[in-house]
Formats: sequence, C-alpha cells, structure tokens
Amino acid sequence: MATLADAPALEIARLPHPAPMKADVRETVIADPGFGRVFTDHMVTVDYVEGEDGVGGWHNAVLGPRGPIPLDPAASVLHYAQEIFEGLKAYALADGSMALFRPDQNAKRFNASARRLAMPEIPEELFIEACRQLVLTDADWFPKVEGGSLYIRPFMFATEAFLGVRPAKQYKFVVILSPAGNYFKSGSPAVSVWVSEYTRAAPGGTGAAKCGGNYAASLVPTGEAFAHGHDQVVFLDAEERRWIEELGGMNLFFVFDDGTLLTPPLSGTILPGITRDSLLTLAREEGLTVREERYGIDQWEEDARSGRLLETFACGTAAVVTPVGRVAGREHDFTIGTGGPGQLTGKLKQRLVDIQRGAAEDRHGWVMKIA
Ligand SMILES: *Cc1c(COP(=O)(O)O)cnc(C)c1O
Repeated sequence: MATLADAPALEIARLPHPAPMKADVRETVIADPGFGRVFTDHMVTVDYVEGEDGVGGWHNAVLGPRGPIPLDPAASVLHYAQEIFEGLKAYALADGSMALFRPDQNAKRFNASARRLAMPEIPEELFIEACRQLVLTDADWFPKVEGGSLYIRPFMFATEAFLGVRPAKQYKFVVILSPAGNYFKSGSPAVSVWVSEYTRAAPGGTGAAKCGGNYAASLVPTGEAFAHGHDQVVFLDAEERRWIEELGGMNLFFVFDDGTLLTPPLSGTILPGITRDSLLTLAREEGLTVREERYGIDQWEEDARSGRLLETFACGTAAVVTPVGRVAGREHDFTIGTGGPGQLTGKLKQRLVDIQRGAAEDRHGWVMKIA
C-alpha cells in the first residue's frame, strides 16, 4: 500500500499579497522588534483531512498573505486542545546569506509531538520547505539589529467541527514569522528563579511534547514567580517534588568545579531541547565530562553553598542561554557563584552562537543555508 512517505512532494502554491506593509513602516518595526510582538506579511497554511478509509492526506499548501483563520466554533482545538507547535530561527550568516539551524530536528520533534497528541504527522520535507520559502519571501523583515533573527513558529491544530472526544479528522498546519530582537546586548544578565510547588509534567503525560496545553498550565506558576519578584519558574518532578526538571520553557544545565556539566535526563517529562542537545555535543568537544542525571533541589542548594556548583544556566531557541544567578522558593533562597553570568556559560553560548551565525566551523552539519 502506498503511504504518505511515497507521495510526491507537495507544491506550495503562492498567493500574491494585495497590500504588504509599507517599507518605511516595516523598517521602523524591525529596528526594535522585541520578541513575538510583530509579524511578517505572509504565512504558509496546509490542510489535512482524514478520509472514510482512515487514510489522510495533506493538501492545499499555500504561501499567502498573513491573516485571520476562519474556524468553526465547534473546532476541536477550541475544546480539547489538540495543538502543537515548534520554534526555530532563521539567522543571517557572516557572509550575508541566511540559514536555519537544525530544522530537521524541529520537524522530527514536531512529528513526535503530533503522535503524542493523536495528530497526523507531516512530511519533514514539507515542514522544512514551508519554513524555508516563508523566510525567503519575507526576508526584507529580517531585523536590522545586531544579533537579530527571524523567529519561525510552525504549528498545527484540529479544525474539525465535532464535540465527541476522539482525535479530529481535520487539521491545519501553519507557519508564521516574527522578527526577533537582540538577546546578546552585553552578555545577558543572570535571572532570578522561583521553585514552584506546581508541577509541569507527570510521568506518562505530555511533558515531552511541545503542545500549547503544557504552556497553559505553566502560566499560573510563572505568574507566581513574577509575584514573588522573580523572572522565571523552576519545575520539580511531579512524583517526589525533588528532582529539577525545567526552567519555564527552557532546559537547565549545572556546571561543577571538577569540570563536569550536568543536565536532567530525557525522562519523558522534559522537553527534548535542540539547544540542549547541541550544547551537550559542544561541551563534549570541549573535553568536559557531561552527565545526563537527575539532580535534586536540596543538592542544588547544598552544592551552591559549598561552592562545588559554579554555574547554572537555562537554554532554548528563543533566548539561547540564560544564566541563573539566584534561586528562591518556599524552602529555598540561595545564590549561584557570584550571582552573575558564569564563565563556562558564556563560552558555550559563544560557541553555539558562532556556529549558528557562520562565524565558526559547522562540524556537525547543523547549519542549513537557505539563500
Ligand atoms: C521548546 C522548549 C524548550 C527548548 O527547546 P529548544 O529546541 O532548545 O528551543 C525547552 N523546554 C520547553 C518546555 C520547551 O517548550
């Protein structure tokens, strides 16, 4: 039987934009874009329908003007939250060309999320091609600030009008772009974090999937962190409330005085970050001992106090690497190192950023030039 994988690559049709943003307005916007506030002129949409025989297909791929998406009030995403997303960036390389960083990994993770949410997988080539064509189409939106990038947000949601509880038979895949400002101004300051009593993901749950539902559930704990005067929330494991899992939407790393680097293992309750994976690879290349092991909150405090722990940082596509300077919670309050950004944190970040921007050799084939 023919499968989707055998199907010919889907052509993305193009619809002209009747009224793109005027160049002078666009220039003003991208001079100070911030993060996630402004969007480019176009988007890609692709539809999926499952047929009577249970076999479905992607069709109707269009790159056209960005705009509202009509949705039936009974669309199952609005009721049962079948929604997943990805986040990656288009970078400007030193030679003036543009590149995506490990987009194949985003496509693979998107499909892993799709499987967990009982949604259809999308061919990896279509995922990457949609990102590539959209970035090329809206390349004029690339922020003219040092360290700027185009943040790419692919997502998929259930559109079928049906209130019974079962996987929907209709979906929409969409890609939008948002010019993102400079995270690298003068070496990011260390953040202060709050250890939450809420949990993010339970064993057997959706913690390893990038789905909107996980984020909805993290808003109250994040609000609590803000209310206590902190920047971000630390989640502990749901079973013992002891093992450190993630920092908001970022993975955590710990640097010790014996040159080891530790990060929590991918146990199913942690999002497998691509930045996490890349930094693990780079750290091994630097000759560091890398351990993917559980690390407890009490141990974190003890090691920070004894000086055995030198640095802690969080990582993810949006902010790359964020140093953690202070940790507080109902039972904790301690400082890490000097409370500022650590040395190894800065070094690993620079290594990664240099590769992403074509300033250092790409030994792993991570950088996909698109123009
Ligand atoms: C996306 C995400 C990350 C970071 O993943 P990257 O691929 O490095 O951007 C970490 N944790 C959560 C919960 C996430 O959603």
